[in-house]
Amino acid sequence: MKQLEKVILEKGRVLNDEVLKVDSFINHQVDPEVIEQITDYFVEQFKDTKIDKVLTIETSGLPIAYSVALRLGVKMVFAKKSKSQIVDDNIYQEEVRSFTRGTVSNVTVAKNYILKDERILIVDDFLAMGNAAIGLINLCEKGGAKCVGFCAAIEKSFQGGRKLIEAKNVPVVSAAIIKSFTNGKPVFEE
Ligand code: 5GP
Repeated sequence: MKQLEKVILEKGRVLNDEVLKVDSFINHQVDPEVIEQITDYFVEQFKDTKIDKVLTIETSGLPIAYSVALRLGVKMVFAKKSKSQIVDDNIYQEEVRSFTRGTVSNVTVAKNYILKDERILIVDDFLAMGNAAIGLINLCEKGGAKCVGFCAAIEKSFQGGRKLIEAKNVPVVSAAIIKSFTNGKPVFEE
């Protein structure tokens, strides 16, 4: 998506060989126009797919997931990150390693909000190594729901997450795909 690539080049900041900061339009300050453009792209890619619900993980996936759910006319659910190991019969839990923090969180969703046979579209801000995506797909599976797709605003293809998701037969759609950081600048896939 050329529009998003342009915004990333203008406003994104490459922190190191691994991490892109997008605090001025997605991760801290949120630019609704950019979110709208990303939403248009995702909705177009899944226009022939039946979707019952959008799932994301707190916090940074929330604006995009909300916008996509609003457009699709479905509910949005966000998985919560907690350090607590308390066993609770009413929630599904998965351990997910955070790419940016390096810590492991228990990611949870109430059983009420992932239902058997629901068709769920997962939406997140970044796809890196795929840990968040796999955790969310596993939560869908625990509830007997089907994950019909995974959408990332920004994929860093050199970190390999796509392969893990596709191995679970879940289609991946990314609005911008970065193949490397070269001389402190993102380089996009053609
Ligand atoms: P993964 O689980 O695919 O390794 O990483 C995805 C998650 O880590 C996303 O939910 C996102 O919040 C965070 N993340 C991964 N890479 C980046 C990055 O380059 N910049 C920012 N801001 N967040 C990232």
